[in-house]
Amino acid sequence: MAQQGSGYQARYKRILLKLSGEALMGSEEFGIDPKVLDRMALEVGQLVGIGVQVGLVIGGGNLFRGAALSAAGMDRVTGDHMGMLATVINSLALRTSLVKIGIDTVVLSAIAMPELCETFSQRQATAYMDMGKVVIFAGGTGNPFFTTDSAAALRAAEVGADALFKGTQVDGVYTADPKKDPSAVRFERLTHKEMLDRGLTVMDTTAVALARENNIPIIVYSIHEKGGFAEILQGRGRATIVSDD
Ligand code: UDP
Repeated sequence: MAQQGSGYQARYKRILLKLSGEALMGSEEFGIDPKVLDRMALEVGQLVGIGVQVGLVIGGGNLFRGAALSAAGMDRVTGDHMGMLATVINSLALRTSLVKIGIDTVVLSAIAMPELCETFSQRQATAYMDMGKVVIFAGGTGNPFFTTDSAAALRAAEVGADALFKGTQVDGVYTADPKKDPSAVRFERLTHKEMLDRGLTVMDTTAVALARENNIPIIVYSIHEKGGFAEILQGRGRATIVSDD
């Protein structure tokens, strides 16, 4: 991989990458498409190859979401517990794909389940990232009524990430959902405050507020970007940068 000296790489030495569970479905309706996992693992592997320290948070929306379960009649807290467990399933699956291609990876869960993976602690997470291991933060924040976007912002702050990358279906933040509203306009840059004031929901407000308080830029990019995430990291692809600088 070229571009060793690129500004992006120097600027973002340690990143937190948030991927939605839906990204893992690929063309399936539910669950995990192993081909997508392998592709994601390769992309993460490229970043590790250029010396970027990578933390990952994966959602659980391909399996369960508490709000949807609650709307269907289940109690919300149990639904959220199921959603958090779904993120652990996804995290274990992604670890397998990363390890398969030789990337040293650990899963740290917010909810203790020592037979499956290690339990999250800030100290351990930071130590592993210092060593260059990929750390997958599973189990969200460990609390109901939160989302994995918030977990990503929280973990980014805890491990001192230089940026929070949010992979979505589109190439940045738009004034409205571009898949529903053809007049939607894409932002090149905006501040955390503008994102909150405009009620832009690409990332939930708790996550944006936490990132803002901790001066963590959020980079929203498309998971379908040609050339993958490494292009975005090196400033070559299309993305929206949310930053107060
Ligand atoms: N969840 C939770 N607390 C957290 C993170 C997640 O209760 O800190 C639950 C919640 O029910 C959520 C589900 O786990 O809907 C899956 O996470 P999310 O919806 O963020 O996944 P994504 O949309 O990114 O796939």
